[in-house]
Order: sequence, then C-alpha cells, then structure tokens
Amino acid sequence: MSIDLTKYIATVPDYPEPGVMFRDISPLMADGDAYRYATDQLVDYARSKNVEMIVGPEARGFIVGCPVAYELGVGFAPARKEGKLPRETVKATYDLEYGKSALYLHKDAIKPGQRVLVTDDLLATGGTISATIQLVEELGGIVVGTAFIIELKDLHGRDKIKDYDLFSLMEF
Ligand code: IMP
Repeated sequence: MSIDLTKYIATVPDYPEPGVMFRDISPLMADGDAYRYATDQLVDYARSKNVEMIVGPEARGFIVGCPVAYELGVGFAPARKEGKLPRETVKATYDLEYGKSALYLHKDAIKPGQRVLVTDDLLATGGTISATIQLVEELGGIVVGTAFIIELKDLHGRDKIKDYDLFSLMEF
C-alpha cells in the first residue's frame, strides 16, 4: 500500500512570523499508518547505509530518528540545546536568521568509526543539520547519510551538506 504523505503535512502561513510558510508534520505523526509508512522508508534508507547509530537534533529529529533506531536495533543519541545534557559534551554553533544557536552532544555518544545517520523532520537552510554533523564528526563518527521527512528546496540546505548523502520523503 502506498500513501501520499504530502496530504499529512499542514501548511501554516505566516508562522512563526509573517512571510514564513511553516510545514507542520504533526498530522503525519498523528496518523498511525502514515507515521509507520514514513518510518518504513527511512528504515529502508538507513539499512542501505548499514547504519550503526542515529543522531537527531532537538526536538523533531527525535520523532524521526527514534522509531528508525528501534526498528534497526541501533542506538539513538539526542543533539540538544544548551543546558539539557547532564554530562560532558561537545558543542557546535550555527547561524539563525537573527543571531546564533548551539547544539550539544554527550562526549561518549558516538564511538570513533561508527556509521551514523543524522535525522531531522525538515531541511531548510541546513544550519541545524550541519551543526549536528559537526558534532558527530568531532567524536569520530562517520556520517553515512542524512534523512528528513521534508526538504524545502528554495532554501538550498542541500548545498550546505553536499558532501553527504541526503534522503527526504518529500520536497516543497
Ligand atoms: P535549518 O537549520 O534552516 O535547516 O532549519 C531546520 C530546522 O528548523 C529543523 O530542526 C526544523 O525542525 C526547523 N524548521 C524550520 N522550518 C520549519 C518548518 O517549516 N516546519 C517545521 N520545522 C521547521
């Protein structure tokens, strides 16, 4: 059975600010068949890359990555914002439209040489995923792929991560 997943994305104009078209994956997650169908495709992709570990940024990267990790029987490590991880961390900063932000990963989250898939719900400018990749690589992990539910083509995030394989379930 094939499902048109684009039907499960809500488009919210002018959120979180005027001029932005926000793509909301929550209707997809709310539908068991659609969420499973999306996850199954991400699992197939991860399997094709012999993934040993998954890393996703707070918070929707968890929603995408965790069910894939469960299905593959591999681990998941959360990349989190400032002050959320209790033990020693590595840090990567990235640019936002106004100002900067940072993501952190526990220092022991990745074993050197581990084949890592990086996941998030959506690729926009690529800043978030680039910071996540940087954290994995600082710990000696090998980023064998990046996977998203949505890629926003006009924002050219793909160009920022052109050295990495990219898989997305749909484009807007
Ligand atoms: P980037 O860093 O510019 O690629 O933005 C991607 C990050 O911002 C991801 O973690 C997304 O969850 C979030 N994001 C940006 N735009 C949207 C959107 O339209 N819908 C949902 N999340 C978004």
